[in-house]
Amino acid sequence: MTNEVPSKPMNMELCHDCGAKPGEFHHDGCDTERCPACGGQLLSCGCSDAEINEYPRQPWTGEWPGVLECQEFGWYAKLIKGQGWVPCDKNDEGASENLNRLYSDAEWNAKLGRFVIKKINENTPDRTGSKPRKTADKTKSATYCRVSQG
Ligand SMILES: [Zn+2]
Ligand SMILES: [Zn+2]
Repeated sequence: MTNEVPSKPMNMELCHDCGAKPGEFHHDGCDTERCPACGGQLLSCGCSDAEINEYPRQPWTGEWPGVLECQEFGWYAKLIKGQGWVPCDKNDEGASENLNRLYSDAEWNAKLGRFVIKKINENTPDRTGSKPRKTADKTKSATYCRVSQG
């Protein structure tokens, strides 16, 4: 197993908005901070203070919220001209964490303070053992592309 070391040092990134260091809490009004209750953007999610205060604040981790979950789940996408972000293998050139998929296929678990894969209880074919191989995306490929533009 070769684990390619990313060019940027791990966990040394400051928050892009407020400049908090990894492990620190965001400063007031930071637009990166996640709501601990719903996982959305704290500035805009609309949860009440009571709901928010029920859970510990989410400190800046050094990674964009959700990125670590995508890495854990192996959800990646790359930007293809004319098509937008399409799911791909993590080793593909230009692959980055597929946050769109995270928001559609995972849900925020406030107790754990992280995203977890949604439980699927509808009649979904192959939910186990499906390898992220290039399948014949003729029928259902549209479900992957529900990316809200803008
Ligand atoms: Zn911040
Ligand atoms: Zn919220």
